[in-house]
Amino acid sequence: MMANDPNMYYRSIPSMDELLVLPWVASLEAELGREAVKDIFNEVLADFRRRVRNGDIQPDASTMEMLNELAQNLMNRRARASLCSVVNATGVVVHTNLGRSPLPQEALDAVLDVSRGYSTLEYSLESGSRGQRNAHVEWLLCRMTGAEAAIVVNNNAGAVLLALAATARDREVVVSRGEMVEIGGSFRIPDILAFSGAKMTAVGCTNYTHLRDYADAVTENTSLLLKVHPSNFRIEGFTESVSREELAGLAKSHGLIVMEDLGSGLLEDMDVSLLEGEQTVRRCIEAGVDIVTFSGDKLLGGPQIGCIAGSRELIDKMRGNQLLRALRVDKMTLAAFEAILRMYLKGKSGNIPTMDMLRVSDEELEEKARALMNAMTELLGELSVSSLAVELVETDDAVGGGSFPGTRLPGWGVSVASTAGIRAEKLAARLRETSVPIVTGIRADRLVFHVRTLLDGDCERIVRVFREIYGESREA
Ligand SMILES: *Cc1c(COP(=O)(O)O)cnc(C)c1O
Repeated sequence: MMANDPNMYYRSIPSMDELLVLPWVASLEAELGREAVKDIFNEVLADFRRRVRNGDIQPDASTMEMLNELAQNLMNRRARASLCSVVNATGVVVHTNLGRSPLPQEALDAVLDVSRGYSTLEYSLESGSRGQRNAHVEWLLCRMTGAEAAIVVNNNAGAVLLALAATARDREVVVSRGEMVEIGGSFRIPDILAFSGAKMTAVGCTNYTHLRDYADAVTENTSLLLKVHPSNFRIEGFTESVSREELAGLAKSHGLIVMEDLGSGLLEDMDVSLLEGEQTVRRCIEAGVDIVTFSGDKLLGGPQIGCIAGSRELIDKMRGNQLLRALRVDKMTLAAFEAILRMYLKGKSGNIPTMDMLRVSDEELEEKARALMNAMTELLGELSVSSLAVELVETDDAVGGGSFPGTRLPGWGVSVASTAGIRAEKLAARLRETSVPIVTGIRADRLVFHVRTLLDGDCERIVRVFREIYGESREA
């Protein structure tokens, strides 16, 4: 056996000098630097030796070629930007894995303007002295929500944490068992409560919580009644939860705070049947909720940010809390968020991509899908590719972002299937490896390009990528 022949084993492993003069190394060295290139070769060699030791592979005449390929792939991967743009053809509008809300040009312009030089981040032009980071968006948030005061932090999880820490530390917080949600695996209401230093009192049952359940749980140490939007699940059948008006009434009579974690921050009513029943932040404030927390990058359509809107007294407590410093928002985020809020102020929310994708009509989607299908069909004809079947299809899209789990969002798309027996997973993987990675849906062993989430220029990108793949090899 070759693996047992130490001479063969050592001879088959190339030296660093041999590797460094391989023809493809120079261009990658320009990207990565010589030291990183050496380290990556060492990493590949170490892994290779380990596999030989474990008996997984045996070194032979093809070893050099294999190492060559492994190292080249790894270096190519490390030389590319890791966080890069992709085409979202999944039809999931607020796609958390793909960065949630795409930003409109207004927001991008603001980010560029503020971040390429110095800015008024914490500076008051009137007084010529120190200003408040939060001041840039507070008035706008109050305008849009009717709240007395507002503050922003890194994300909504941070908003909930800060709000609880500042108002309910070492006190009791009453929450319904039907609203103990977990979002995205890492945000769990009981855990956030524990982190904030508050004590949780769970009331009611999973499917049914009465007002008297809350009332019975109130003690002299209770600080706050918490309502949480059950964003990513739905309880059906025999169910009851307590309205925010009722909770606000109970809180008032006991001198307690009512807080609502709204999840998605709708700033204005949408005439989209899908979002019916979804409350705007303003409605929550009007119903008597003292503190409302919500995300900036879900339905609101902005950058990742967490907003807290509510009574001046309570927001002032949060301003004085040390956690605010740890959770504070970066200038690029603030710039983008202010620009988004100004679009709402001007009545231009229709130009925010997330809003636009949810409001788009069925006819428009069908037309867009038809255009993509025609462009694909034309390209495949031009390249004489006959191994792909392209079809116009109706799709199930989704709002995403952990909202409206049970709601069907009908859309349109283009399905692409191999007639040569290539699995859809394999085609999908191929599309993720191109110069413009495309993430698609897969249904019944077909790729599905949902057009709802395609932005300007994406159809052209998809066609270009197919040209890239099928222009060089018809097999692909
Ligand atoms: C999404 C969501 C969160 C977490 O918000 P992030 O902005 O992702 O931190 C918290 N609570 C609810 C109800 C949510 O829907």
